[in-house]
Amino acid sequence: MGVGYADEGAMAPGNRSMSHYDDLLRRLSDIQRLNQANAVLGWDQQCYMPHGGGAARAAQMAVLGRVAHEMFVDDATRTALEGAEGAGEDPTSDRGLTLRRVRRDYDQAVKIPTDLVEAMLRETALAHDVWVEARAKSDYAAFAPTFSRILDLLRRQADCLGWKDTPYDALLDLYEPGMRTAQVRALFDDLKPGILELLAIVRDAPAMDDSPLRRGFDEAGQIAFGEMVVRKLGFDFQHGRQDRAVHPFCTGLDRTDVRITTRVEREWLPCALMGTIHEAGHGMYEQGFDPADDGTPLSGSISLGFHESQSRLWENIIGRSRFFWNHFFPGLQRQFPGVLDDIDVHRFYRAINKVEPSLIRVEADEVTYNLHVLLRFEIEVELLEGRLAVADVPEAWNARMRDYLGIVPPDDARGCLQDVHWSAGLFGYFPTYSIGTILSAQLFDRAERDVPTLHEDLVRGEYGSLLGWLRTKVHRPGRRYEPTELVERICGAAFSSKPYIRYLHDKYREIYFAERRSVPRRADA
Ligand code: ZN
Repeated sequence: MGVGYADEGAMAPGNRSMSHYDDLLRRLSDIQRLNQANAVLGWDQQCYMPHGGGAARAAQMAVLGRVAHEMFVDDATRTALEGAEGAGEDPTSDRGLTLRRVRRDYDQAVKIPTDLVEAMLRETALAHDVWVEARAKSDYAAFAPTFSRILDLLRRQADCLGWKDTPYDALLDLYEPGMRTAQVRALFDDLKPGILELLAIVRDAPAMDDSPLRRGFDEAGQIAFGEMVVRKLGFDFQHGRQDRAVHPFCTGLDRTDVRITTRVEREWLPCALMGTIHEAGHGMYEQGFDPADDGTPLSGSISLGFHESQSRLWENIIGRSRFFWNHFFPGLQRQFPGVLDDIDVHRFYRAINKVEPSLIRVEADEVTYNLHVLLRFEIEVELLEGRLAVADVPEAWNARMRDYLGIVPPDDARGCLQDVHWSAGLFGYFPTYSIGTILSAQLFDRAERDVPTLHEDLVRGEYGSLLGWLRTKVHRPGRRYEPTELVERICGAAFSSKPYIRYLHDKYREIYFAERRSVPRRADA
């Protein structure tokens, strides 16, 4: 049943295990190349493909995806994997770690029957348009039947994958390997009181004026400034490029060819600029995998949480910091002559860090962002466990919005219909946004201790020491370790919300609370 691979029986007996391993790697490398080719089609689809090309493109991508999947679950993969496992590799060696990674991927892939994969693809392909229309009309009832069918498929998927405490564990594991629902709940339990405390301070403070960010900014100038900034941060344009897309994303076609995208709004400066920094954070991770791992199962991102930790670190901890704007603000003023001449860096820094409970997650500030994710996480778990009926989602959503953020959506389009994830069958995905955010602060906290010159470097606009640290600690290990193991290896501690809470309080108390008393809490203040 092999797809064009030599029969391993022809190998010399003494080389048998070595051959199995090489055969496995060759096979997986081919599959990786197929998936990369498919990613080029996906990137083109979102950036340049004419609208009418959609059906042909979907067919092309489906064929490539199916061929890659069939090659992976083929008996030849299992034979090579079992043969290689039989060689008694040291489990801590790169070979041992490779086999552990492949075994995990393989077991996960073969547990889902083909008919379920196809049913999910069919249902979610249809669901996308149903969701788009339901959102346009703010008609949740029109989406509910589709949503129910997707949920049934997700429950089946969870059962196929296997779970102990809650079916949500099985789905979460697809995006954040090894992470359990109970751990996510504990991270949120730690986070929530600190966020609510900060929000109370913000509510009592005078309203923040962010109107300077809403002036007209020339679009070409926004692109040029954003690219100048991320080039300085370390995004490599020799091995990457930026294009425009309606829904910005980053896709690593290969370590040596990373595509980021951005969306420009003339009257909202942060849209393109902070979006570019965010996607470049993802992009620098993709560019930073170890060249020695090219084409092997160890190359790549270990989890969505780790991926998001990189984007959030560069976007927020760096890109919304005082030291960052002290350095870049004069250049921003020069980029848009006459637009920001009456604004000083202090006012700009405050504007770009304005905290305000809002309806839309993707537009949320650093303080309220995780409450949006918490709300979805809770609703997803209850839906999957059957404790919440599909029909009752809008009510549950609005009640939590009121409890957590103090506002209620005027309609479901700006409430429970706002995100694309559910129509795409992505359950267990949302928590990775918060895991990444929490992790970004935990990593930065560690980098501050590991790199004595870090603050001086950042104040001078030198980002090489931070990027170098991230390369060594986060990017190069690739997929060697489970996310929980990698956090322990880097930080010497388990995932924790504490550094993030500390970061938020240090920063936003200074901005909102102690403004008149001007209390410098950090070296960059
Ligand atoms: Zn992201």
